[in-house]
Amino acid sequence: MTVNIGVVGTGMIGREHIRRLSTVISGARVTLVTDVAADAAQEVAAAVGAQFVPKAEELVTSDQVDAVVVTSPGPVHPEQLSLVIKAGKPTLCEKPLATTEADARGLLDAELALGRRVVQVGFMRRYDAGYRDVRAAVAGGRIGTPLLMHNVHRNPDVPAHWTSENTINDSVVHEVDTIRWLLGEEITSVQVVPPAPHPDHPGVQDPQFVLFRTASGLLATVEAFVRAAYGYDVRCEVVGTEGTASLVNPVRSSLVSATGEVQAVPASWKDRFEAAFNTEFQEWVDGVAAGAAPTGPSVWDGYANVLVAEAGVRAIATGAVERVDLPAAPELYR
Ligand code: NAP
Repeated sequence: MTVNIGVVGTGMIGREHIRRLSTVISGARVTLVTDVAADAAQEVAAAVGAQFVPKAEELVTSDQVDAVVVTSPGPVHPEQLSLVIKAGKPTLCEKPLATTEADARGLLDAELALGRRVVQVGFMRRYDAGYRDVRAAVAGGRIGTPLLMHNVHRNPDVPAHWTSENTINDSVVHEVDTIRWLLGEEITSVQVVPPAPHPDHPGVQDPQFVLFRTASGLLATVEAFVRAAYGYDVRCEVVGTEGTASLVNPVRSSLVSATGEVQAVPASWKDRFEAAFNTEFQEWVDGVAAGAAPTGPSVWDGYANVLVAEAGVRAIATGAVERVDLPAAPELYR
């Protein structure tokens, strides 16, 4: 079976995913696209033999669409995800699920009312081979009892309008998901400790050092640095009583000469996580084709992530330890 997919939002990552679905992923084809920028979206559609439609509602309800990919900006995800939940169509939505607790709660309630999982949230690190190995080591007891976790998230650069809050909402949310997923626990508090700011960007707190505490008291740290200049560098280490499980940074090549050894790091998150995105999409398409419920990050994961991000933004302002008050996960997501 070929899964017919409608894509909502043909901006930067929407185009990446349309290319992926059209040239890399087997068993899928993009049939309809929509975007508020109609002219550009029409070009994107024509390039892959898809059709443009002006409204998300038309796309979601069309019988030419079996499943939906949402790659519009975060603030419009709730409106569009409400449509897919109403239609009961399998959907892979780029992170975040929503940008406010109230919107995320509304989507959680809507999916609970439907009574089955429809929406998967695009936290693609869960599909990275290295993160999967670390998780298997932790879950398999190979590091004994986990005690703490260290994370590093360095970007070479960000747009000029980037704020301290963007670092939490756009970057650190990936670690929020990996912490919850790797440790298998909810996050209960967040604190942001400011190191010396970047000398060329004094108005923005960069880097940020974020401390998370989980339900059983485990500590997880994140160094988030969005103008690290040299490349995209993501690290993760879980420390346990019997050992540590770490990502080994993928390097493309190494040059050894009289002046030393040079290893190339990925230039961007796109390079670093290309394979993870491909696995994420292939597994999702295979699941849709089989009529299976999604197994990736759920609406609950998206909801918990929004609550932690909101506490993180408060923590930037207060410098205090901000609590995350998450209710118990509903049965559908346990
Ligand atoms: P983008 O380049 O701004 O693309 C979003 C597109 O959606 C734009 O063409 C935008 O049009 C359009 N749009 C705005 N409102 C819309 C609506 N109501 N209906 C349909 N289309 C609408 O943004 P992006 O960088 O691709 O990011 C999109 C999403 O992907 C965000 O949620 C972002 O956080 C996520 N993302 C995830 C990762 C990851 O690592 N997983 C990486 C990058 C981005 P206008 O420009 O005219 O507003």
